[in-house]
Amino acid sequence: MSQITRREAAAGVSSRAMHELSIAASIVEAVTEAAAGYPGARVSAVRLRIGALSAVIEDSLQFCWGVTTEGTPLASARLEVRILPVVVHCATCGVTAEIGVQSFHCPRCGAPALDLRQGRELEIESIEIDDPEPATAHAQEKQTL
Ligand SMILES: [Zn+2]
Repeated sequence: MSQITRREAAAGVSSRAMHELSIAASIVEAVTEAAAGYPGARVSAVRLRIGALSAVIEDSLQFCWGVTTEGTPLASARLEVRILPVVVHCATCGVTAEIGVQSFHCPRCGAPALDLRQGRELEIESIEIDDPEPATAHAQEKQTL
């Protein structure tokens, strides 16, 4: 059932959105792997850090996350995205500052600033897990509802 939904969604999206789809798939893979160390625990949220230059569209990623996690144990997990601004270091005046994604110039002295310190991140910052209650059997029953 969820496989059909996934295929239909993939067929309907452009190649542009395939970028987010493959990112969502690798996040699911990484989170599933990490959560495997906590048997019975339920992932409630996944927090991402995404640089402003990583070319990820958050809305698209949220949509793809919903499609990818549908019918899996991660279906109820929230995806929380934190966009990190672009930060450069200016070799001319030594300042490290945030800049816009359009202009790669030092905001203080105007020199071209090409030493990128932040902005291309695409990483999982943390995974929030609901610890299973001491009575694990009850927690598992709740999950099937
Ligand atoms: Zn400068």
